Amino acid sequence: MANWHDYAVRGRVPEWPYPIRYENEQVIETDVLVLGGGIAGCWAAIAAASEGLRVVLVEKSATIRSGAGGPGCDHWCDAPANPSSKVDPDDWAQRLASANGGYANGIGRQIQCRENYDTILELERMGGKIRDTEGEFKAAEGYDEKTKFVFSPRSNPFHESNVVMRVWGTTFKPALKRECQRLGVTIYDRVMATGLLNEAGAQGQRVVGATGFNNRTGEFTVFKAKATILCMSGSAPIWTFDTELAALSTFRPRTLSGDGIAMAWRAGAELALLEKSERHRLGGGHKHHWYAGAGDASYENVPLVDANGKVLPGGLSLPHWGRKSDPGDGRVGGGAWEQVREGVLKGEYELPIYGDFPAMAPIERNVTWKFLLREESGTKIIVDSYEESGFDAAKDRLMAYQLLEGTSPPQWREIYRGVERGGVMIDWDLKTNLDGLYAAGEQLFVAGDHSFAAATGRYAGRKAAAYALEVSHAAISREQVAKEKARVYGPAKRTEGIDWKELHAAIARVMQWFCAEYKTERLLKMGLESLNEIEQRWVPHLYASDPHKLLRGMEDLSILNYAQAILHSSLARKASTQWLDFQRIDYPEMDPPESNKLTTIKLENDQAVPGERPLNYAGHLKKNYEAHNRDYTGVWKG
Ligand SMILES: Cc1cc2nc3c(=O)[nH]c(=O)nc-3n(C[C@H](O)[C@H](O)[C@H](O)COP(=O)(O)OP(=O)(O)OC[C@H]3O[C@@H](n4cnc5c(N)ncnc54)[C@H](O)[C@@H]3O)c2cc1C
Repeated sequence: MANWHDYAVRGRVPEWPYPIRYENEQVIETDVLVLGGGIAGCWAAIAAASEGLRVVLVEKSATIRSGAGGPGCDHWCDAPANPSSKVDPDDWAQRLASANGGYANGIGRQIQCRENYDTILELERMGGKIRDTEGEFKAAEGYDEKTKFVFSPRSNPFHESNVVMRVWGTTFKPALKRECQRLGVTIYDRVMATGLLNEAGAQGQRVVGATGFNNRTGEFTVFKAKATILCMSGSAPIWTFDTELAALSTFRPRTLSGDGIAMAWRAGAELALLEKSERHRLGGGHKHHWYAGAGDASYENVPLVDANGKVLPGGLSLPHWGRKSDPGDGRVGGGAWEQVREGVLKGEYELPIYGDFPAMAPIERNVTWKFLLREESGTKIIVDSYEESGFDAAKDRLMAYQLLEGTSPPQWREIYRGVERGGVMIDWDLKTNLDGLYAAGEQLFVAGDHSFAAATGRYAGRKAAAYALEVSHAAISREQVAKEKARVYGPAKRTEGIDWKELHAAIARVMQWFCAEYKTERLLKMGLESLNEIEQRWVPHLYASDPHKLLRGMEDLSILNYAQAILHSSLARKASTQWLDFQRIDYPEMDPPESNKLTTIKLENDQAVPGERPLNYAGHLKKNYEAHNRDYTGVWKG
């Protein structure tokens, strides 16, 4: 692949391959508008279209493989309504909602536990592979003769629960896209949604559509909708940016830049727990690419040994991330890893650590190497590359990198690792505080994983469709559209100034200085002032020489808004809490009882307004779920 130096030597910079049509505008009207064509978005679109409504799906990338779940998925987690499950779905949801000190999304978890089995059965009808129909893994631990599901022992210590299914996730996204097309969903790929449109253009009013631009041609689109569903995930590279090492995001694709959070924020939607961040510990260029070495999630049944073949405590693969049992300083994650680290320092174990594939029974080795790692996201490339280079899982051990990579500095932070993270606040219809605006998947606060995104997407699509059937279209404000157009095209009109990389690096640096390990009122306020200065002084100099760079620039503006909201939320939490890795030097007491609540933040007349909810604001999960879904007919009958 050529780099810019090669082009300079050849004396020719490649031309932009698409016609550029900035300012060209089209207006599209639909009943339900889904923003983000990842897992939640595809499911939302399918559910809404199944109700016979007109549905538009807007995706920044290419729906067929876009988003975190686009390349694949090997575990369908927390599916307690499956027929071989040994646990009750409502109890399981309650257990998940009570985890992490109660900083959980009970509504989302209840939906996931009640409906994700129905969801995966629908996926199977669409062509997704979820059973070992050929009996290839019949002799493997977890194989269920009755259903042909292959359950994971990963759910230890709930080994007997049968709630985590190993699946052929590379088949999922193409099946979802095909189903969208079959149902007549209109898909706009390569269109970045940029802003929500409020009724009368007024922040806090009903959402009546959105705007977007094509990141190849630059064309602008106004989408008018009765209901809009945010499915753009809440991940974003806020604290780290490195142009050389591709440290753009952390364990999520680069397309995830917090656009949904920024759009919700500017429109006046309520956001919860944005103050949550933690030390960066995965991928992103600074560390090994996740799954490239033993010890990560898909290696669930691979024993780890030291350089001399001594089996590590924990036996099978150690937890790749810990919860509250971990050292809390981002060293490696997982209480068991901390034990290993101490053992290494005392000379009990010698580095490096390896995944001992040859020691495994051939069937279990095949489960990991030939099934899970081939189905899990980009890991097929990893497996193929190792094999091309001569790696033979029957003979060779695979190195684990966790301990070798050591500690990240505390200012390299990320939003994601576990599930306690911020996002959009919702009610039992997955509706935000704004009429017409719904959200699903990782767009929600304290969201779960793939099956959570699928089940909540499907649910939000159903609820948004019901709303759209009841209401009529409202007029969009041309003034708001004109303002958004000016914001989007500003950088395209300039030919010099600062480029998106400089802007991103500046925002990341501000967050590292003022919203990282040391948090005080003064530092957080200095952070806000610095971001405001960037917005007022430097954003007007942002330039983009083609629609792709315009996309990156717009993403930076999302990151900027996201960072501002994080600072407001951090100022609103006047306490320290271990559950959110949130420590304020000026409020040193850890988890004082009165502070155990959800902090919320929203814009009113462009001013940040903090709020709060009790941790259990969702009320009785089973009763409320049933009260809101009387007509729902699923497999689980209670
Ligand atoms: C490597 C990897 C492996 C994983 N393995 C598993 C697993 O085995 N099991 C499991 O349960 N979970 C797994 N996950 C997590 C799972 O993939 C996610 O939880 C799930 O994809 C979240 O779905 P989502 O729809 O919320 O977000 P995504 O699937 O990420 O979709 C968000 C979509 O929004 C689009 N978008 C963003 N901004 C815009 C914009 N401005 N305009 C238009 N579109 C936009 C993005 O391009 C993307 O397509 C894995 C994640 C990764 C990264």
